[in-house]
Amino acid sequence: MTVFDLTGRRALVTGGAQGLGEGMARALAAAGASVVVADIQDSGEQIAADLPSDGDRKHAFTRLDVTSESDWERAITETITAVGGLDILVNNAGIEITGLITEVSPGDIRRMLEVNILGTTLGIKHGLRAMRPDGAAGNGGVIVNIASVAATIAFPGISVYSATKSAVDRLTRVAAMESGKLGYGVRVNCVYPGLVPTAMGAGLANDMATIGLFGSPDDAVAAVVEQTPSGRLGTVEDIADAVVFLASDAARFVTGAGLPVDGGMGM
Ligand code: NAD
Repeated sequence: MTVFDLTGRRALVTGGAQGLGEGMARALAAAGASVVVADIQDSGEQIAADLPSDGDRKHAFTRLDVTSESDWERAITETITAVGGLDILVNNAGIEITGLITEVSPGDIRRMLEVNILGTTLGIKHGLRAMRPDGAAGNGGVIVNIASVAATIAFPGISVYSATKSAVDRLTRVAAMESGKLGYGVRVNCVYPGLVPTAMGAGLANDMATIGLFGSPDDAVAAVVEQTPSGRLGTVEDIADAVVFLASDAARFVTGAGLPVDGGMGM
């Protein structure tokens, strides 16, 4: 038993059907938590079914569009019913649409604002309501929001995405402050992942080349690695382990923080 042990904790991970969110669901389950995978993709059901389990520990899937308030209300209720409570919420779902600021369309701006800011805000709202003392779960807990190294540096081609991730950073700080001042017993932190070659990360490298910022996707990746003191891209496990840390008692005095997990790219 270590301070990283999550036995008995109940976690909800948004965007858990693939990529970083899938890795977070696996890592939280490996640390002993019951995990509810939430996503707009029903393939998340299989991810939940494959999570490591033992004894009576359950995992579940809930269909959740993070931009829908009624979906959040239903997902929180389903989570508490399925796994018996809620102690950890990871607001991971996000989208990235690459484009030069001279070319960006109002539709693409709105889509990123909706998922990354509205979706994360609703997650924080309903997570705090559920976990605070008068909530349906009522035992306090932890919220981990997934921002990005893009919130801390200026990288070309991702202006609006970067702005939304800076918003996630600020939302985290104010939510942590309100939670502390109002006695909710919920720590709120965020992570700034560096580039990880998930569908989103690989797509970003391709798009950077397509819009002419780099000669090829490999050149875009090389530019990121060149800017990274650790000398490599991130892995899904690098990010997932940081989420486990923030969710665990090892981080019991950590709130309102943003943790770079980027090999030093953002320093
Ligand atoms: P991904 O595109 O591989 O996966 C995103 C997941 O979110 C998918 O399962 C998708 O279905 C889900 N999703 C999208 N919109 C949703 C919505 N409205 N409601 C519920 N689920 C929704 O992306 P990823 O690389 O796994 O990224 C996960 C998070 O990490 C995102 O917030 C992203 O911005 C952030 N991030 C990623 C990187 C990277 O390099 N991959 C770097 C920094 C930050």
